[in-house]
Amino acid sequence: MNKFIFVSGGVCSSLGKGVAASSIGALLESRGLNVRMVKCDPYINVDAGTMSPYQHGEVYVTDDGAETDLDLGNYARFTKGRLSKANSITTGQVYESVIKKEREGQYLGRCVQVIPHITDEIKSRILAASKENADTDVVIIEIGGTVGDIESIPFLETARQMIHECGRTNAISVHLTLIPEVAGGELKTKPTQHSVISMLEIGIQPDILICRSPVMLDEPTRRKIALFTNVEMDAVFTSPNVDTTIYKIPIVFFDQKLDQVILRKMGVESRHADMKSWNSVMERFSARKGKVRIGVVGKYMELHDAYKSLYEALFHAGLECGVEVDLVKIDSSQLEQQPRSSKMSEGPPLEGAECADNILISGAQDSSPYDGIDGILVPGGFGHRGINGMVNAAAWARVNKVPYFGICLGMHIMMIDWGRNVLNWSDADSTEFNNDSKHPVVSLLEEQVNIKNYGGTMRLGASETIIEDGTHILAAYGKKQIWERHRHRYEFSNQYRDEMIKSGLKLAAFTPDGALVECVEWPQTGARSHPWGVAVQFHPEFKSSPMSAAPLFRDFIAAVMKQAKKGKD
Ligand code: GLN
Repeated sequence: MNKFIFVSGGVCSSLGKGVAASSIGALLESRGLNVRMVKCDPYINVDAGTMSPYQHGEVYVTDDGAETDLDLGNYARFTKGRLSKANSITTGQVYESVIKKEREGQYLGRCVQVIPHITDEIKSRILAASKENADTDVVIIEIGGTVGDIESIPFLETARQMIHECGRTNAISVHLTLIPEVAGGELKTKPTQHSVISMLEIGIQPDILICRSPVMLDEPTRRKIALFTNVEMDAVFTSPNVDTTIYKIPIVFFDQKLDQVILRKMGVESRHADMKSWNSVMERFSARKGKVRIGVVGKYMELHDAYKSLYEALFHAGLECGVEVDLVKIDSSQLEQQPRSSKMSEGPPLEGAECADNILISGAQDSSPYDGIDGILVPGGFGHRGINGMVNAAAWARVNKVPYFGICLGMHIMMIDWGRNVLNWSDADSTEFNNDSKHPVVSLLEEQVNIKNYGGTMRLGASETIIEDGTHILAAYGKKQIWERHRHRYEFSNQYRDEMIKSGLKLAAFTPDGALVECVEWPQTGARSHPWGVAVQFHPEFKSSPMSAAPLFRDFIAAVMKQAKKGKD
């Protein structure tokens, strides 16, 4: 029988429940156990795919094309367990299938209720996730929201039932709370006491408390918490603020013996923890030398979570290249005001023309937003706001020989820049932004033409890509066949293939049937040669981890370091 760990949160949101749950997963994996992570999201959306990044942060995509909560990205970065549609359970999915069954008459005339029908549906989904892989030892179920929220009650009630039905050694409750520090530096345990009371009202006695606190809790404080909450003192842990990286949390928990206590409570025997790979992350973190500054040019810059996997992937690449990656978040709509060189739209492109004077925004200008930027990354996105600013950024990188990495929308931007500023089609655009363009260099995927619904209808999930010889992307992956995840509706317009190739653009990777362009690169030789300009239709950031950076992120940072060094020499 699988073991189940229910991770809930109290007091307030944003305590790092996802990182705590993932770190527990990492610790159990370090002991040789097979872990499966599940996220229960109390919102009524069927999945995160239709939500604005401002509402919900990034949408994380799995191999099988689920559009999920960003916590699944944490799971992917901390643990090795399989992630699929089954790992993400939402109130929307649960109600959708219960209502469907009711319409089909499957409840045989009974009144359909939250208990048992909704809770049974949640339970069957958790069990389905636990059974998807025969060798799963432990399922960690993170329950979104905070105890006391109306929306999360059915999920907590399901946890209560499962703890009761499976028995306390087979299912345990880990509760994350906050220990705030008030004026004078005093730590307050009262919110934690109240949070546990809220759990008890639901019928769940937490087995383990993880207390988010500015500092490590001392023994008297832990004893006091234990006294008020019926939790053993050695099961009261601290999740302190770390000033290095979140990847230190598994080590912080290990040092407090969290893995030992969990396994003792569940009656599991395992080998000793092997923390080598986590220690090596921290060693590489401390060994980083120097800095590179990456301008991330996008739409949702105020919200770090909107590009969570991408920022993490840049961090991983820095770990692998031994350099600190400074993020310079640039709101692309602010770049739209930047002056354009009059040469950008003049006359036909001259074969072999020197592009260096087509500088959009000179690095030498007084307050250029590009001052000190060593590389440009344009991430994925939707809608027309700020698009011209992204095109400006791509043109600036191309002309100034600054490494450029485009992801999904960032590839479309590369095409639009090339169309407008190299081929001099001043109206070159994607039909996502301008349906009337005479030069739609990016257009709707054929399979999307008749699709009306928004939810779950994009080109989603992993598919195969075949890489061409002599490309940066081949150098990065070191093999010709790769599988990466997609989430888009628009693509490179095939009618422009010849003109793009003739003008020097490299079509660097395709779908196996050759129908879709998956990667474009700026030329490595000739008049328009550029040190590293790569854009891909897929999202390599989803498969990056601190143990192994996504190859294109690693090579992007390596190219940035090389160029930055050249600039200094
Ligand atoms: N909006 C573009 C499309 O739908 C790009 C999507 C993305 O960047 N994920 O094709």
